[in-house]
Parts: sequence; structure tokens; C-alpha cells
Amino acid sequence: MLEVFFTVDVEVWCDGWHNIDEKFPDAFRKYIYGPTAKGDFGLPYTLNVLKDHGLRGVFFVEPLFSTRFGEQPLAEIVGLVRESNQEVQLHLHSEWVDESRVPLLADSGTKRQYLRYFTMEEQIALVATAGRLLKQAGARDVNAFRAGNFGFNRDTLGALAANGIRFDSSYNASLMGPDSGVMPGVSVVEPIECDGVYEYPMTVFRDGTGSLRHTQLTSCSFREMKGLLWQALETGRHSFVILSHGSELLNPAKNRADDVVVKRFQQLCAFLDKNRDSFHVRGFRGLKPKLPQQQPAPLASPIWKTGVRMIEQAYRRKYR
Ligand SMILES: [Zn+2]
Repeated sequence: MLEVFFTVDVEVWCDGWHNIDEKFPDAFRKYIYGPTAKGDFGLPYTLNVLKDHGLRGVFFVEPLFSTRFGEQPLAEIVGLVRESNQEVQLHLHSEWVDESRVPLLADSGTKRQYLRYFTMEEQIALVATAGRLLKQAGARDVNAFRAGNFGFNRDTLGALAANGIRFDSSYNASLMGPDSGVMPGVSVVEPIECDGVYEYPMTVFRDGTGSLRHTQLTSCSFREMKGLLWQALETGRHSFVILSHGSELLNPAKNRADDVVVKRFQQLCAFLDKNRDSFHVRGFRGLKPKLPQQQPAPLASPIWKTGVRMIEQAYRRKYR
């Protein structure tokens, strides 16, 4: 049995940092509800598809935006996820720190894109604030975290431990994982314990061109994802972490559904539902970590599947 985590980062962006107060209501609708001429394809749609298949999703909700726009929109997001009986966990984008109406740190004057740009003490304070906001918005039993843009470092794990958060899923071997200070020189692809926190890294794979990719709905075809899931099971992997976003089923302008990605999501859910004797789709609550003796090499997907995906991606770009 392979433990599969279908993780969804939920966040709102205002398309730049000018006039954000004016832009926010429209941005919130787009990023959270995703209205289109053919219906809504945002967070409620994702929640419904998971519910239809009886699958668990982990929703990493970003709360720092509420220090600018107020508690209500955050409470609305948390409410949607909780009503659907899914897991709310903590996501944090430090880009919001200097936009807050009240200073969150002694030095909040400049925008710092990644959490790793903050000291350990600052990270402890930010995680505490973000966790409190999420709790005030109705979240319960938060025990897992993901840094925005995967921009964490080893201090982040210490900051999580200091805040009583046991699980992290910020390590991404295809982005900033290798220079995070966690297991230098090793590509972490399976769970590890570090500084009192269990790290559940993003699942990554080598595609047919040799490049390392993470398993995300928009960057990996269903055929690739299915092959990788079987490969992970057959090679005795412990965990498989998939990435999505609350607005990932929409095109970049967020005014139309991305039909290819919607289909991938539906196919993936149907597949995981049908094969639940092989894949345990779960969250971080009640998780008893199983750690491998050593880190295996990243999974690999054959060149022909890369080719088919490239055609699919070209189609998506043409019709978005
Ligand atoms: Zn994010």
C-alpha cells in the first residue's frame, strides 16, 4: 500500500501589488470560486470531485493575505474546505508580510519572496501568526505546513517544531530543496525526520529528456502520473505527494476552465478511487510516519510519455 497525498495550495493573488485593495474582491472570486461561462471551476469544484470519489485532499491554506483584507475571506475558504470534510493545513507566502495593515515583524519594510530569507526567530513568529489566523478562521488540528514557492530552509523546520507542527511538505528536489540545508548532497524524495519535524517531500521524477519535474496536475499528464504511481508502489516507496492549486483547473487568465487539466484531475480521482486497495489517499492527521532506510533515486518516466505530454501541453497553450 502506497500512501498518496493529494495536496492543494489555496491562495489569492491580485496580479501585482498595485491597487490591491481595489482588485481584491475580483481576485478572490477568481482564485477561490473560478466562475466561467460553463460554471465554477475553483475550490468548490475541486472539493466536489474529491467528494464524488470519496478521496481525502490536503488543503494548504494561505492565511497571511487576511492581515490586509480582513478575516472574513479567510474564514470563507476554511469554511468551504471544512464543510467538505477535508483537511485544512498551513501554507505561508511571505510576500504578504510587508502588505499587512499591522507590522508582523520588527523589520517588515521590504518584500521578501521566500520564507528562507527570514531569520529563524522571524520564521518562528510568522508561523505562529499564520497558525493563529488559520485557527481564528475555524481551522482545527493543523499539523502540516508548506512554504510558499517551496522557498523553505532548514530553519523553517525548527520554526515548525517550535510551533508544534509535526509535518512539513516544502522540500522539492526540482526547485529549492537541494540548497535548503536539509540533507545536503542528497535529493530527498521520501519522508525523513529532521530537527523534530517529519519532512514529506514533493514527489519528483526524471522525464524522458532527463529533467527533474514535480508531480503537479498542470505539469504532468495523467498517463505519466498513473505510470509513476504504479512504479512507486512496485518499488516499495512509502509516500507519493501530488501538487495542485485551488485555481489550477483554470486557464492563466482564470476566465475559462483548462479542459485538459480538468480531465486529468477527473481521471486521476477515478483511478485512485478504483485502485484504493493499492493507494491509500490520505492526510497528515493521524499519520504515523514510515521512513525508508535510505533515499532512493527519483522515479523515472519514459521518453514516449514525455513526448505525448508535450503534445498535450502544446494543445493547452494553444487553446487557453
Ligand atoms: Zn503557494
